[in-house]
Amino acid sequence: PDLDLMDAHLVECRACPRLVAWREQVAHDKRAAFRDETYWGRPVPGFGPADASMLISGLAPAAHGGNRTGRMFTGDRSGEVLFAALHAIGAANRPTATSLDDGLHLNGIRITSPVHCAPPDNKPTTGERDRCRHWLVNELELLAPTLRSIVVLGAWGWQALLPALVEAGWDHTRPTFGHGVHYRIAPVAPGRHHLDLYGCYHVSQRNTFTGRLTPAMLEAVLAQAATSAGL
Ligand code: SF4
Repeated sequence: PDLDLMDAHLVECRACPRLVAWREQVAHDKRAAFRDETYWGRPVPGFGPADASMLISGLAPAAHGGNRTGRMFTGDRSGEVLFAALHAIGAANRPTATSLDDGLHLNGIRITSPVHCAPPDNKPTTGERDRCRHWLVNELELLAPTLRSIVVLGAWGWQALLPALVEAGWDHTRPTFGHGVHYRIAPVAPGRHHLDLYGCYHVSQRNTFTGRLTPAMLEAVLAQAATSAGL
């Protein structure tokens, strides 16, 4: 099994009735600015190379971002901030992400989320989070041979990632979320490396418009994680 195969199964998932209904309703109704586009309207798979040494994990796709374009953080304001920062630290070949065919490449970094379907109000339920976890566990297992660092965007995503890390074969400790925190997570199952785990405020407009998360703060965490990953 490889990541492409996993993603091919993932995009067919219909396990969460509320999220299936919402992602498809949004894809049907559309936002006026995107009226002429065909929305993706399905689970959004992780984006980036299968041999990534660094993972960035968010929360869930945005209704008119990833749920429209079919790629994580692509076509929304959160992504504008994230990809500008990744480009600034030399990890992306361009500073913007607009569509699946925009030519964007990430160097050694994969981006994923603990919930793969856009939720109403950007708020998945805990049941939806738990139901989607096996995809993240599988992704972590497949990345395990090369994975060295993870950046988690936001406290909700942090709480969602920790149990997935345990299931995928890393330590069971429960580190506390904060912006800029760094923990070294020990491997338990064979074939895994120590992981450098970093917390970062989410790149949502609520944080970036208010200055709670500045580009410099984001770039600093991403650069540390990239260095830990040998990038
Ligand atoms: Fe499937 Fe995850 Fe989407 Fe639920 S959120 S339908 S588990 S891909």
